[in-house]
Amino acid sequence: MINATGFGAQTADLPLAEMTFQRRDMDDHDLLLDILYCGVCHSDIHSCRNEWGNTHFPLVPGHEIVGRVRSVGAKVRHFKVGDLAAVGCFVDACGQCQPCQEGEDHYCKGGITLTYGSPERKAPNILSQGGFSNNYVVDARYALQVPDNLDPKGVAPLLCAGITTYSPLRRWQVGPGMRVGVVGLGGLGHMAIKFARAFGAEVTLFTTSTAKADDALRLGANKVVLSTDKAAMRSTRGLDFILDTVSAKHDIDALLGTLRRAGTLCLVGLPDQPLNLMSRSVLSNKAVSGSIIGSIAETREMLNFCAEKGIVADIELIRPDQINEAFDRVVSGDVKYRFVIDMAG
Ligand code: NAP
Ligand code: ZN
Repeated sequence: MINATGFGAQTADLPLAEMTFQRRDMDDHDLLLDILYCGVCHSDIHSCRNEWGNTHFPLVPGHEIVGRVRSVGAKVRHFKVGDLAAVGCFVDACGQCQPCQEGEDHYCKGGITLTYGSPERKAPNILSQGGFSNNYVVDARYALQVPDNLDPKGVAPLLCAGITTYSPLRRWQVGPGMRVGVVGLGGLGHMAIKFARAFGAEVTLFTTSTAKADDALRLGANKVVLSTDKAAMRSTRGLDFILDTVSAKHDIDALLGTLRRAGTLCLVGLPDQPLNLMSRSVLSNKAVSGSIIGSIAETREMLNFCAEKGIVADIELIRPDQINEAFDRVVSGDVKYRFVIDMAG
C-alpha cells in the first residue's frame, strides 16, 4: 500500500481536515503522481456534504488533478518519470462493453471507477480517494499529457469543468451561425463561454449575479441576461442550444422559453433537488437533454484544442488549509472562476 495525506471529510457536517490514508500498490500499467494542483469542483462540495445521498466517508475529494510522474510501471510507454500528467473524473472502466469499445468509456456499462469514492477495479476492497492530496496511483491509460504551452494551474480545471462543457457543445455541433445560451457563471459556465466562442457561436450568458456581467463579456459572451429579470427573459428568444450549468434548483421553464422551435437545452448541473418542468415549455419540439463529463479520447481532443487556442481556466490559487473557506465561497457564487489548490506549494 502507498501512504498518502490529504484534506477530506469524515462526515457530511464536519469541515474538511487533514487526514492520512492508503492507496493501492502500483502495477506494471500504473503511474504514481506527486500532485501539484487540484481544482475545486462543485461536485466535490455536493459529495463532501452528502447532498446526493451516496457518499462513503471518509472522503478525500478532487478530480481536476495535475501532477508530476514520480514512478512508472514497467509496461507504461507514454509517460516517463518527471513528466506532467493529468487525471480527471474517472480512472478506470471495464474496457470490454460496447461504450468502452466505441471510445465512450465514460458510459461504461460496468460503471466507471470514479477518481474518488469508487471501489478500485484493481483492489476492490479499497475506495479511491481524490486529488486534495499529495499523490495518486493511476493506470496510465486514464492519465493525460499536459500540453507544454499551457499553465498547469489553469489546465487542472479542464479535466472536469473543461471536458464537461466541451463534450456537449461538440455533441450538439455548436459553431458559427448558432446562438448559444450558457446558464450560470461558475467553473463550468466560464469554460462553456470560452469554448462556445472558440467554436464560433454567438453566446448569451444567463446569470443571477449582476456583478458578473463585465467578466462574462471579457470571457467572450456577446450578451448577458439577468435570469431574475422577467422582462429580459421574455425578450430573449430564438436560441439554438442552451447549456445549463446551474448547481441548485432553478426555473428551467423560463430558459426553455428562450429556445427556438426544436432547440435543445442540455443539463450538466447536478442540483440535489428535482427541477420542475411544464409540458407546454417543450411542446414546440424542444428537447431537454443531459451530459456527463466526457471520454478519455475526447478529453485528449479537448486538451489539444486548448493547446492550439491557448485556452485555460481562470483560476484563484489557494493553499490546502483554505479549502473550507473556498467551499463556502463557491456555494455563495463568489469564485472567479475556479479555485485550484496548490498541493505542493
Ligand atoms: P459553480 O462554480 O458553483 O457554478 C454554478 C453557478 O450556478 C453559480 O456560479 C451561479 O452562477 C449559478 N447558480 C448557483 N445557484 C443558483 C441558483 N439557486 N439559481 C440560479 N443559478 C444559480 O459550480 P460548477 O463547479 O461549475 O458546477 C456546476 C454544477 O455542475 C454542479 O451541480 C456540479 O455538481 C455539476 N457538474 C456536473 C458534471 C457533469 O458531468 N454533468 C461535471 C462537473 C460538475 P451565477 O452567479 O452566474 O448565477
Ligand atoms: Zn467536477
